[in-house]
Amino acid sequence: RPMPPDPSSRILGREAFLQELARHATPEAEGEQTFGLILTKLSHLRDINQAFGFTTGDACLESIAARLGRIARPKDMVGRLGGGMFALLLNDPCDEALLELAVNRLLDVLAAPVDVGTRTLTIACRAAGGLYRDHGPTPDALLGAVEDGLHQTFRKGKPYLLLKPRHEAPATDDFTLLREVEAAIDNGELTLHYQPQLDLREHRVAGFEALLRWHHPVFGQVSPERVIPLAEKNEVIVPLTRWTINTALREFKELRGLPDQVKVSLNLSAPLLTDRSILDLISDALAIWDVDPARLMIEITETSMMSNPEASVAAVHSLRELGVRISIDDFGTGYSSLAYLAQLPLDELKIDKSFVTQVTSSDHDRKIVRAIVDLAHNFGLRVVAEGVEDTDVEQLIIEHGCDVGQGYLYSRPVPLEMLDYWLHAQPATAAGEPSA
Ligand code: C2E
Ligand code: CA
Ligand code: CA
Repeated sequence: RPMPPDPSSRILGREAFLQELARHATPEAEGEQTFGLILTKLSHLRDINQAFGFTTGDACLESIAARLGRIARPKDMVGRLGGGMFALLLNDPCDEALLELAVNRLLDVLAAPVDVGTRTLTIACRAAGGLYRDHGPTPDALLGAVEDGLHQTFRKGKPYLLLKPRHEAPATDDFTLLREVEAAIDNGELTLHYQPQLDLREHRVAGFEALLRWHHPVFGQVSPERVIPLAEKNEVIVPLTRWTINTALREFKELRGLPDQVKVSLNLSAPLLTDRSILDLISDALAIWDVDPARLMIEITETSMMSNPEASVAAVHSLRELGVRISIDDFGTGYSSLAYLAQLPLDELKIDKSFVTQVTSSDHDRKIVRAIVDLAHNFGLRVVAEGVEDTDVEQLIIEHGCDVGQGYLYSRPVPLEMLDYWLHAQPATAAGEPSA
């Protein structure tokens, strides 16, 4: 077999890389065209140089260069910017989800031990990423912003950082927005993103939560936290929910080879909980898309249950009779009583992310988490911790007995194609070896 080309031959020097970067942002490339830029740097280059000498430090950098050369796809570009910093240009229409996947893959690959002479060193890199136009109007501005991001990872002690859009969508009033939601359903401006949930005991996928995304042609991304409350004040919540349920179940069927335990979770809007029409809506959708009701988890917030406790008990019973599973969302924020919960045929409690993110720093929140887990387990419920952002938090929630984790540590909410990719990449492919 012919030898593959030496991967390090694909690495551009600083000047050449910057030229390429500029070339990609010529006016002809304007419009929809966007690309991603990732910068990465070895965490402890100085320590390595001091402890083992510069030859060893250089060997580590060579090995990083070679690995980057291997993971870059044919159209991507790798550059060595000096100061131990490397750049990867993702040269394809790129969005935030793809960027994050690429950053994770890159850090994974770069974390493999390096053999230097007789020694094997464990190394780690930090990385930051951004998208052309969203995070910088010119290539230079993007480079500067991503570089800033990379420095922040060192200051904040985070493995990576993705830039947030600098330009928020133009402000718009509720009235205009509400008028547009209904049209958005027909115009195909709505999508669902899915966030995986991990079974912490079995180390496998437990399910994924469907989250609404609206990309308005003028206003850009409109947060569900803005859209849903607006739609709830209006009849629009019904067609919106019909769209959500049908889309989620259709897409659930599109995913091939899903293990039996995997469920799809859907958020049910508070006012609909006591609306009888929701029962028909759900059972019709289950029938149309031929989904086993037991694979559908309906998330109801604790607050919405407590706003009308008696009616909610009846509603939860009727939902459960359809065969779907019931999860109490944002648990811990709604002051529900034990006696109340005991009357409900529940399957799952989701601890609100405000407690989860604080679990490493607040004694108080640790106690709350422990109490919720004990309570839930006494009722035979599974406990999901949402908002798991780093491994320290993960460690603690595992120690406290949580059954399932959900959060940026595992994945952000991603489009269906990414979810499919993610599901099949679990458990992660061995780091270091290109799969192609
Ligand atoms: P939620 O049900 O509590 O959903 C979880 C939210 O936390 C999502 O925000 C998700 O992106 C975010 N999140 C996930 N992991 C992390 C993490 O590690 N750290 C942090 N800080 N946040 C994390 P998103 O997608 O913006 O949704 C916000 C809220 O909008 C949802 O909160 C839910 O109440 C509502 N929502 C979203 N989609 C729908 C929908 O289709 N129907 C209804 N009724 N409500 C929806
Ligand atoms: Ca939820
Ligand atoms: Ca929640």
